[in-house]
Amino acid sequence: MADFDFDLFVIGAGSGGVRAARLAALSGAKVAVAEEHRVGGTCVIRGCVPKKFMVYASEFANQVKTAKGYGWAVEPPRFDWKAFLTAKDVEIARLSGIYVTNLRKAGAHLLHGKARVIDPHTVEVEPKEGSEDGGRYTAKRILIATGGRPTKPDFPGAELGVTSNEAFHLPELPKRILVVGGGYIAVEFAGIFNGLGVETTLCYRGSNVLRGFDDDIRSHLADELEKRGVKVILGCSHQSLEKTATGLVSKLNNDITLETDVVLFATGRAPYVEGLGLETVGVKLNERGAVAVDSYSKTNVDSIWAVGDVTDRINLTPVAIREGAAFAETEFFDRPTSFDHEAVASAVFSQPPVGVVGMTEAEARHAFGAVDIYQSAFRPMKVVFYGGQERSFMKLVVRQDDQRIVGVHVMSPDAPEIIQMAAIAVKMGVTKAQWDSTCAVHPTLAEELVTMREKYVQPGVGTVA
Ligand SMILES: Cc1cc2nc3c(=O)[nH]c(=O)nc-3n(C[C@H](O)[C@H](O)[C@H](O)COP(=O)(O)OP(=O)(O)OC[C@H]3O[C@@H](n4cnc5c(N)ncnc54)[C@H](O)[C@@H]3O)c2cc1C
Repeated sequence: MADFDFDLFVIGAGSGGVRAARLAALSGAKVAVAEEHRVGGTCVIRGCVPKKFMVYASEFANQVKTAKGYGWAVEPPRFDWKAFLTAKDVEIARLSGIYVTNLRKAGAHLLHGKARVIDPHTVEVEPKEGSEDGGRYTAKRILIATGGRPTKPDFPGAELGVTSNEAFHLPELPKRILVVGGGYIAVEFAGIFNGLGVETTLCYRGSNVLRGFDDDIRSHLADELEKRGVKVILGCSHQSLEKTATGLVSKLNNDITLETDVVLFATGRAPYVEGLGLETVGVKLNERGAVAVDSYSKTNVDSIWAVGDVTDRINLTPVAIREGAAFAETEFFDRPTSFDHEAVASAVFSQPPVGVVGMTEAEARHAFGAVDIYQSAFRPMKVVFYGGQERSFMKLVVRQDDQRIVGVHVMSPDAPEIIQMAAIAVKMGVTKAQWDSTCAVHPTLAEELVTMREKYVQPGVGTVA
């Protein structure tokens, strides 16, 4: 057998790469990880974690309103963007440091630089400024874990807008923002900036936000965004963006002109494969430009695997982690493991947040024909004292022939926490009768989920079969 510098060379120290590298190193394998930016990847540096801090920061305005209803006298609240940024950056640096420590503790060798595949067993690292990690390294296996990158639409002036990458570091909190896009990142940022007191408009070219989610969740969330003060423009597309003395002027279709201080594009992400040299070794990409892999995350080249967003399967941190772990289990612990992408729960940290697991009603009808729907829309008791008009929405999608619950959709405070638990039951194949045999916890929002007894009949339809 040929002698290699490493048993495994991982490109990208994000969620998937770090998990694979750590596990492989713990097996006793000689592991290198190259990172061109900061250890921790999108999730820790410019994704889930800083986003959640921003969500927390932005929720206080609504909490202050609620507190007044409960008898609290609250000074006019004031938010200090720079103080928040400093606190956030300190915590992100701490978390990134923990990732570095854990990699080193496991025995992995960290290289600071951009890596490129030269041949099926060789990687070249172009060192980051100040680093001496450059050079060529050979490895028995190579793992591509380079994640994704935000994309911008193509129209005159689009370069004046920012993406989520920059949204975490805006030098000033804008007075007015236009968020472009309708996916989860767009609605999350719309909620964040709106909560922070920024005049927020959301512009999305589709017919409603959150494409791919259950239609009821989509329409309820759009209503709630508007109730909280986000101006939502649907069927909206940009024609141009121009900088003037007073701001950025967006020319939209339907003769709409809108001036804001910041335009944030949350219009999609693409697998990050540029400059990786995959074409030189013949690694195949799929029709979406993602690295094509089998269920063990192996590419068409025998010594190369790929996990996480660069494979564009389900682009979430826990999925990247599980794919990375499954790869390490298979290749370094001799336990063939493939991650099951069925019934992966997910959350949208919009305001109110959303938690979903399983199929939408439309998907279930398409797959099974007959389904039973149970749903409920109600005002959470917490908001009643201040006269809040926010509503929560919960929905169960049940396959009619065997009464198995195939979808749970929740839009309510704490929906992400609620859905994590519901996902266990759904993943285990729970039936509606088993679900209903669970006694409620009172008084909670989640009890609504286990007390929905009457099938929902769509008004004007009469039957849901
Ligand atoms: C704004 C935002 C919010 C999000 N919120 C959530 C959420 O709430 N929950 C959730 O589950 N997911 C969320 N995600 C998605 C989540 O961040 C990703 O699914 C996850 O980070 C994917 O992990 P990964 O390992 O595939 O890639 P990444 O975490 O992106 O890591 C890839 C790493 O590879 C490095 N790299 C790339 N090319 C090279 C190269 N040639 N050489 C060396 N290094 C390289 C990059 O610098 C990066 O550090 C969010 C994403 C964004 C953008």
